[in-house]
Amino acid sequence: MRADTFRHKGLRQQMVDTLRSKGITDEQVLRAMGEVPRHWFIDSALDSHAYEDRALKIGCEQTISHPSTVAMQSQLLDLHSGMKVLEIGTGSGYQTAVLCRMGARVFTIERQKGLFDQTRRLLAEEGYRARCFLGDGYKGLAEVNYGPYDRIIVTCGAPSIPEALMSQLRIDGIMVIPLGEDEQEMLRITKLGNDRSQWKIEKFGTYSFVPMLNGKQMKS
Ligand code: SAH
Repeated sequence: MRADTFRHKGLRQQMVDTLRSKGITDEQVLRAMGEVPRHWFIDSALDSHAYEDRALKIGCEQTISHPSTVAMQSQLLDLHSGMKVLEIGTGSGYQTAVLCRMGARVFTIERQKGLFDQTRRLLAEEGYRARCFLGDGYKGLAEVNYGPYDRIIVTCGAPSIPEALMSQLRIDGIMVIPLGEDEQEMLRITKLGNDRSQWKIEKFGTYSFVPMLNGKQMKS
């Protein structure tokens, strides 16, 4: 078990207050983010910045999202305990841990082996029971039959809405996805039916994510 000092807890409470002041109202999200030690999910050299509302480097040219972005995406999911959630872009595992703390059954996919190995180990050691997969999130988890998912969260910038992911979302399910290349618009898509015309799309502002890469752009 990694350390979680009074100082960390105090800074974390301040972070939660900041999230409230930025308009996060979902008490389940605020509680989970008040409990998950974000400093466990970043390099110890950056420990003093763990509870600032900023993105930080996590290696492999990737970043852990701003706490306010994690909070916003988690809130938009409208999550209930016991729901099956598919996450694309495990990265540091922080968002994964927050979803676990909210009572979700989490399935998460990462394309970079280095991050995948490191984060899978960390989540297991700290008791977060997410199922971690190495692979291409564009395809979802079509080959293993855990779906359909109640919720899907994409944590990298997608150039288009991945059809394979929409097909793995249950009817009335929700996908939260940042859509765009250079910058992204946060979308919440409610799948009212299988046909594209039955996808209800709502927009929630502009964000900046690392890109969602496809199979051809993959490096080991
Ligand atoms: N949720 C993460 C965000 C990490 S950044 C966190 O809280 O730390 C986004 C992650 O998406 C990166 O780790 C990147 O490697 C991963 N990624 C990019 N394209 C992907 C793809 N096609 N499939 C799975 N993961 C992908």
